[in-house]
Amino acid sequence: MRPLAAGNWKMNGHQASVAELGALKDKLAAASPACDVMICPPATLITTFSDAAAGSVIQIGGQDCHSAVSGAHTGDISAAMLKDAGAGAVIVGHSERRADHGETSELVKAKAQAAIDAGLVAIVCLGETLAEREAGDTLSVVHAQLNGSLPDQAAGATTIIAYEPVWAIGSGLTPTTEQVAEVHQAIRAGLSALTSAEEAHRIRILYGGSVKPSNAAELMAIDNVDGALVGGASLKADDFAGIIAAF
Ligand code: PEP
Repeated sequence: MRPLAAGNWKMNGHQASVAELGALKDKLAAASPACDVMICPPATLITTFSDAAAGSVIQIGGQDCHSAVSGAHTGDISAAMLKDAGAGAVIVGHSERRADHGETSELVKAKAQAAIDAGLVAIVCLGETLAEREAGDTLSVVHAQLNGSLPDQAAGATTIIAYEPVWAIGSGLTPTTEQVAEVHQAIRAGLSALTSAEEAHRIRILYGGSVKPSNAAELMAIDNVDGALVGGASLKADDFAGIIAAF
């Protein structure tokens, strides 16, 4: 399956940041990437970025959506609004949202389902904390999150999983090759049980957490790693292009 390099800009970027997207577009036009490429900017930039990315390989995604279609939810954004603004996908259940906003797997599942119903691909994030890893609970935590968060419509065309150990996000730390392989294999097995063996092999499982140009090739070569979700290193066209070139 074709891998995906997705950039999560988090709460970074203003209208002028479209210049960085333009720089990435130019680099990719010259390089013909061997993976799909996506940038998930803040919601305020989705229309600007999707207009600027037109005619390039770069897809645009959101970082979160509400589980409802519309209504009295001040400050929230629906999946249909993201689609209307130009997004083709949305991240749901990022650990920063699970931690900062108390999002449960049940809510993440509802958001993923709302995203798919609106015609977006749902990128569902899972991952253990350092305390959970040190307690030997990584696989049970990831399984519980997968079981609880996977949308009913999960399929290769609708759903992407991102395994992001919380302790590796923004820390410069990355798990060992064996640790990544173990969790990705467990997620694939979990997907088989929840969908079917065939469909489980169509659902991309991204690795996320301190991916950078210098470690991308090694991480992307691991079995069952079908791409990367990249935070900090996606903000600079040079760094993100360096990661994309590692595929
Ligand atoms: C992320 O938050 O999705 C992420 C992977 O961040 P970073 O690459 O900065 O660790």
